[in-house]
Amino acid sequence: MRDFYNIIVVGGGHAGVEASFAAQKFGIDVALITRTADSIGRMSCNPSVGGLAKSRVVREVDAMGGIIGAAADMSAIQYRVLNRRKGPAVQATRAQCDRNGYERAVQKLLRENSTVEIVEDSVKALLWHGGKVVGVRLSAGTEIGADAVILTTGTFLGGKIFIGEKGFLAGRIGEDAEAGLSDSLKEMGLKLLRFKTGTPPRIDGRTVNYEKVQIQAGEKDYVPFSFETMNIMSVEQQKPCYITHTNEKTHDLIRENLLLSALYGGKIVGIGPRYCPSIEVKVEKFPQHKSHIVFLEPEGENSYELYPNGISNSLPEEIQIEMLHSISGLENVEMTRPGYAVEYDVIDPIQALPTLNIRAFDNLFLAGQILGTSGYEEAAGLGLLAGTNAALNVLQKKMITLPRHLSYIGVMVDDLVYRGADEPYRLLTGRAEYRLLLREDNAWLSVLEAIPKDVLKILSPNMHEKFIEWRDKMRNLTIFFDNKGFSRAEAEELHIANGTIAGKYLRRPDADWESVEAMFPKLAELNAVPAATFRVEMKYSGYIERQMRDVRQFEKMGSIEIPDDLDYFAIGLRREAFEKFNKFSPRNIGEASRIAGISPSDIAVLIGAIQKKFHNKQLG
Ligand SMILES: Cc1cc2nc3c(=O)[nH]c(=O)nc-3n(C[C@H](O)[C@H](O)[C@H](O)COP(=O)(O)OP(=O)(O)OC[C@H]3O[C@@H](n4cnc5c(N)ncnc54)[C@H](O)[C@@H]3O)c2cc1C
Repeated sequence: MRDFYNIIVVGGGHAGVEASFAAQKFGIDVALITRTADSIGRMSCNPSVGGLAKSRVVREVDAMGGIIGAAADMSAIQYRVLNRRKGPAVQATRAQCDRNGYERAVQKLLRENSTVEIVEDSVKALLWHGGKVVGVRLSAGTEIGADAVILTTGTFLGGKIFIGEKGFLAGRIGEDAEAGLSDSLKEMGLKLLRFKTGTPPRIDGRTVNYEKVQIQAGEKDYVPFSFETMNIMSVEQQKPCYITHTNEKTHDLIRENLLLSALYGGKIVGIGPRYCPSIEVKVEKFPQHKSHIVFLEPEGENSYELYPNGISNSLPEEIQIEMLHSISGLENVEMTRPGYAVEYDVIDPIQALPTLNIRAFDNLFLAGQILGTSGYEEAAGLGLLAGTNAALNVLQKKMITLPRHLSYIGVMVDDLVYRGADEPYRLLTGRAEYRLLLREDNAWLSVLEAIPKDVLKILSPNMHEKFIEWRDKMRNLTIFFDNKGFSRAEAEELHIANGTIAGKYLRRPDADWESVEAMFPKLAELNAVPAATFRVEMKYSGYIERQMRDVRQFEKMGSIEIPDDLDYFAIGLRREAFEKFNKFSPRNIGEASRIAGISPSDIAVLIGAIQKKFHNKQLG
């Protein structure tokens, strides 16, 4: 361990791994300080990666040279494609992984492909001077200097676990909470919030009655998460999941014991995720639902433990056992570990900038759960961005931001820093206004557009040239088909008019792609990834163009700059708008309009004032 690094990343979870991996690619010294090296990349909850919106983040991270996609592929035991029959904007790949295998894969990828120095210790305080962080203090009081620090401490700051009426300090079951760091952050003047999340009990799969549950096999027709993964698993190589349901008996039991749960017994003050409620909340808030689905998901290739997805709770252990026994197929099941809720400190994300550094300390970056999110994918996406920007900051280069229409990471960052979080933030497709532009298949193309060439070359040297080649081939094919009329024989085979322009035909929803592919071997020149993108972009070109028009319109208005010397007080804004603009100092109309609580009429007042100022300047 040295006494100075360019960048110190605190915490080796999903955010810290991507942050340190991305940062070291810029040729600077990076230390990852984390409690124990063997918990790097640990999955705190369900060992699964992907799902709606999240799978696109995994592909964005992979396209930018990150780790999560490759690690998920290396440890996957089952793949499924959600919403296969629905439109491309909501299709999503989800992998069930081997919990230990995932951890091992992350550690291997980090160890073998990076210069990150791993330091096993706890960071107890940040060292700061004026508006700069200058280093960290470790558990034994040792101080290490840094040009920039990235905090990715997950659920550990002030972590407290609850199981029924029992409450004890911990960040994850079996791992101590972090006590000192929250105080240090408060001393720096940062505002902390208190959130909570939870996990279900685990069960012994050997004690499940499989005759009473429904099997859910894996799928073979999927695209792996990483662009570099070649192997496709057959259905036989994959492990099945199972489905069962809660019932009225389960719900009655939960209702009867509601006050014994930590959540309803008044023990927990932190706010939980609305979109991933515990079973107590589901039963209490939706009494009209007589049953809730429970997925029984394997914890690993050789593990007999199952993760009953859908029944996270903070009830006493004995009630958890009774609850499990009330569910079909689980009547005699053995609980291997109780479920629990965990409450922890997060830094209010509105204190951060879209580059993920803190407004008040421009070399302190945040990513993952500490920034108010929940989920491995969210943490990985933020980690990669924080690591990249911390490195660019250290090198005194322009930091990057990711536009909402090109990146779900961009959507998440924008939501967090301009709207804040009043509960653990999870990505959902509904959070994106340009969903059709944020599909799983085109993450590579978006990344190519979103990131400056020199930065992408550093982050993703293996893929950068390939993406350019794919994009150019797609462009050439579009030009070719837009200028190609079908011959009589071709038109007859496709049952269309002679001379029909191929590009027009391929944009029809009923186009027979298989026949066209057989007619034009050029199409087969595309690798499977750009081929899928090309197909969707042709088929949905009308809708995509409409969304792009909206993007351009918004960008045009959004790019109007707000003069630094505009006096918000003097232009007749509502009090809330005046306060928010003063607090966030938006650089342009786009940023101003995304701030929570700002209405279209506030924006109209702002534009009017900018126009007037411009006009007066011209006259003067
Ligand atoms: C009980 C529980 C249930 C969850 N349920 C879900 C769920 O259902 N779905 C979902 O998507 N997500 C869930 N999550 C969230 C998911 O696990 C996290 O969002 C994700 O792990 C966050 O990644 P991270 O990198 O921010 O932090 P973590 O993965 O928590 O990693 C933080 C790392 O920082 C280290 N650390 C902390 N403080 C210090 C310090 N001071 N010095 C050195 N090292 C430090 C820790 O040892 C750890 O290695 C759950 C989490 C928990 C704990």
